[in-house]
Amino acid sequence: MSSSAPRPRLRLFDLPLDVIDLQGTLTLLGEWLSDPARTPHTVVTLNPEIIVQSRQHPEFAQAVRDADLVTADGVGIVYAAKQLRQQDVPRAPGFDIVKGLMERHGAELRVFFLGAKPGVAEAAAQNAARDYGVTVAGLHHGYFGPEDDGRVARLVSESGATLLLTAMGAGRQEVFNQQWRGVLGVPVMIGCGGVIDVLAGTAELAPAWTRRLGVEWVWRVAGDRKRWNRAPRLLHFVRLVRAERRRKG
Ligand code: UDP
Repeated sequence: MSSSAPRPRLRLFDLPLDVIDLQGTLTLLGEWLSDPARTPHTVVTLNPEIIVQSRQHPEFAQAVRDADLVTADGVGIVYAAKQLRQQDVPRAPGFDIVKGLMERHGAELRVFFLGAKPGVAEAAAQNAARDYGVTVAGLHHGYFGPEDDGRVARLVSESGATLLLTAMGAGRQEVFNQQWRGVLGVPVMIGCGGVIDVLAGTAELAPAWTRRLGVEWVWRVAGDRKRWNRAPRLLHFVRLVRAERRRKG
């Protein structure tokens, strides 16, 4: 797929969702990465958490609306698109996008690793350089307040990165990429949750069977006590989808 080709875009709860699969996403991002104009682009991988949270946070919803590409991260979004738009939407999860870009572009890729606890981005960068041969443009942990946003954005800008992995938790990462996109100036900026932890080996990737079925969240919620409070939020999402469906008749 070429970036000039129109991408079908749905609306789910007033947020956009692009109908694009993993291979199409990798091809499109490859074009953005190699464009000498270095036009900045933001990518959101939509999940139920984002839909639920963004209803309470207008700046978060706006960051998703302004994103250049919004893919379906998991089965929750596939379900919502089917229920509300009667459409089969393919998935393009954040981890698969990042890994696919690294596999396709190797050393051409100048990656900035932004996020996770101090020390984790260093390990992720080392592993990605060893496993995929990517060039490390820079790194920074994800625990800083809004007063430091400008300083970190300039650090990223000066690094000459072509790919920015922003992994600071849902909401914070999308708003940061969108609000600072002009300063960041990176051709592909993606909000990608726990991806830096997975690359570093401090978090395990969900097992293949859950990934195949698109239900990684079941494994993540079950395996991590801190996430147990998220299960009710997912039920809340199913209820929201049903209510929206009834509302639309
Ligand atoms: N994280 C961060 N800064 C924060 C909060 C979280 O860098 O202020 C990192 C965290 O260390 C982890 C990633 O963001 O690497 C995803 O965090 P979490 O799983 O809590 O967020 P989710 O995206 O699942 O909401």
